[in-house]
Amino acid sequence: NKKLLDVKDLHVSFDTYAGEVKVLRGINFSVNEGESLAIVGESGSGKSVTVQTVMKLIPMPPGRIKQGEMIFDGEDLVNKSESEMQKIRGGKIGMIFQNPLSSLNPTMKIGNQIVEGILLHQDMTKQEAKERAIEMLRLVGIPTPEKRFNQYPHEFSGGMRQRVIIAIALACNPKLLIADEPTTALDVTIQAQILDLMNELKHKLNTAIIMITHDLGVVADIAERVIVMYGGEVMEEALVRDIFHNPEHPYTWGLLRSMPRLDIDREKENLESIDGTPPDLLAPPVGCPFAPRCEYAMKVCKEKKPGFFRISDTHKVACWLHHEDAPKVENPIVKQK
Ligand code: SF4
Ligand code: MG
Repeated sequence: NKKLLDVKDLHVSFDTYAGEVKVLRGINFSVNEGESLAIVGESGSGKSVTVQTVMKLIPMPPGRIKQGEMIFDGEDLVNKSESEMQKIRGGKIGMIFQNPLSSLNPTMKIGNQIVEGILLHQDMTKQEAKERAIEMLRLVGIPTPEKRFNQYPHEFSGGMRQRVIIAIALACNPKLLIADEPTTALDVTIQAQILDLMNELKHKLNTAIIMITHDLGVVADIAERVIVMYGGEVMEEALVRDIFHNPEHPYTWGLLRSMPRLDIDREKENLESIDGTPPDLLAPPVGCPFAPRCEYAMKVCKEKKPGFFRISDTHKVACWLHHEDAPKVENPIVKQK
């Protein structure tokens, strides 16, 4: 279980006319080799900016890494130059983004787009790269890859385009695949097929995955471990089964109550959304960022940030309810099991 990526106390801000927007405030997480980690949270929770920071894709300025380390494969990415990062992106770290349309060049044959990435990062001849590209198309389940190699993106369906993007991302055999909402734009059936494919490839190639999603259904399908983010901070970290069956943070409870679940017999009408809006990151709360929306908030929550309370070796939660002096509250998710 060797650590592949270890992000420590990461602080990121954007300098704007209105002031310093503190988008990440002390993020900690790690991913082991071959492991799949999901990062979940509502929009604006900081999940996309977290992975964009790891890839150094945030515009700097106005963005800046104020503090922290991002140790990837033994080296701190914080200190890497843009030219060093260009070798890592698409090489040791593959990326898949939300919109399969905008990630492909419409004027270039699919095969050449894969070959281009391979030649940029691998020491191969054009012919070897072409063979590798065809092998990748076959691996991601595209029929007649030799013929498809010479076609343009518009000749592919949305699901097939997403398969091509996965082929590009994996063509250089990355140690880590970062996927930001990779199935959100696809219909449900295609979404399931793409997630199946990603699971299959992960096992075949032993690639670690960081999957960003707001969809807990996707989490159940693909992740081994989950971190829950809110307002630019990590609220809870746990194995996937504990997130669903023994979640310990009121924000996670809210996320679970707002999604339809197959494993709990519940009517759709009972779905609740979490009331209130995310914190203003120009002036983040001094205490728990979730306090203004939390039905369990106590005086201490507004005054002091909760540290992490350890539930087990693999489960930790940033919530004052786990302090020994806090009132005992019933876990509303476990109760419904
Ligand atoms: Fe709610 Fe307090 Fe826990 Fe924050 S620390 S989630 S406000 S109970
Ligand atoms: Mg996002």
